[in-house]
Amino acid sequence: MSHTLDLSRAAPSAEKPPVNLSGLTRAGLREALIAAEICPPEKAKMRASQVWRWIHHYGVTDFGLMSDIGKDVRAKLAETFTLARPEIVERQISKDGTRKYLIRTAPGIEVEAVYIPDVGRAGALCVSSQVGCTLNCTFCHTGTQKLVRNLTAAEIVAQVQVARDDLEEWPSPKEDRRLSNIVFMGMGEPLYNLDNVADAIDIISDNEGIALSRRRITVSTSGVVPQLQALGERTAAMLAISLHATNDPLRDVLVPLNKKYDLEALMAGIRAYPGLSNARRVTFEYVMLKGVNDSPAEARALLKLIEGIPAKVNLIPFNPWPGTDYQCSDWKTIEVFAAILNKAGYASPIRTPRGRDILAACGQLKSESEKVRASAVRKAEQAVEAA
Ligand code: SAH
Ligand code: SF4
Repeated sequence: MSHTLDLSRAAPSAEKPPVNLSGLTRAGLREALIAAEICPPEKAKMRASQVWRWIHHYGVTDFGLMSDIGKDVRAKLAETFTLARPEIVERQISKDGTRKYLIRTAPGIEVEAVYIPDVGRAGALCVSSQVGCTLNCTFCHTGTQKLVRNLTAAEIVAQVQVARDDLEEWPSPKEDRRLSNIVFMGMGEPLYNLDNVADAIDIISDNEGIALSRRRITVSTSGVVPQLQALGERTAAMLAISLHATNDPLRDVLVPLNKKYDLEALMAGIRAYPGLSNARRVTFEYVMLKGVNDSPAEARALLKLIEGIPAKVNLIPFNPWPGTDYQCSDWKTIEVFAAILNKAGYASPIRTPRGRDILAACGQLKSESEKVRASAVRKAEQAVEAA
């Protein structure tokens, strides 16, 4: 006699919410259409392509608008699936045009995304990969928020879709885009959620959809060395490294992950990053902290550390947040630091702080989402479903 319990019919579960097609990969979309018997497997590729274009090129959220799909099929799609966007809990616009979105993707799950005009080719969207962060970089506001959970690929893609709704950028324009670049520099450590980040990049770079070039997608990491190779191979995205210090004792304090992967290991990992070349440089991010890491000697140490690597350096004036003890370096000090790097031939722009007035600048993001008990989340989900 088998002792395996069949739990599948043990308790009648609450009816599942419909699957949202707008965050699925192409393969996922095909499978969903087959499973729902929208089309037979041999027709799935063609049907998925059709639906894909409506979702990712035209940005529709209503199956009724898919005019080249038969009425019956559209009706069945609408009965089975949804294309609804997540709720925008808050939308703030800074004096400088920066837009911050607080998006609720599920009960208790709130993520922030920030659109920054005039950055990159035209404008960049800074997306989150996790709610909260497990790492505790001492100068980062997100680091004070416990990890709630990894975002799904759908939740990452939804941030892009919401921004494009707001910028009225559907269908995907070939030229003159307002949203031209994506940076994974919002909340969380993308390399601790690589599978979902990679699926999201597949979706937003797909040529028959949002079609953002992978060269305009940058993934920033605090230095999860064992995942660098996989990031390059799987996504071909541009790499940014949060360096912030040029010696181990200081980096151990600022970026505690350094205790696990020290500077020597990190630099070796970067040198081996797939596709690294003069045309595809790594960006080193360096936050300017007054009296901590901003001396001319440290600028020279930085040059030594990155010698021979095709690189540019982004100097980020520290953005303060409530409760921090750090201060931003004086402007003059930042200029002296930048001049040393420039003289050695490195592009080293000083990143103008954007959206500070709405706490949308680098490292200021922190949502109110707290790690709650799974039971509380289930309860909230049931309440939403019942409503
Ligand atoms: N977790 C990833 C990506 C998100 S942080 C990473 O650490 O790279 C994006 C960038 O903002 C990182 O370079 C981070 O070090 C920097 N940053 C964090 N807090 C900051 C602050 N208060 N002021 C300026 N930059 C900050
Ligand atoms: Fe996490 Fe990046 Fe902030 Fe460090 S800087 S705590 S890795 S989000």
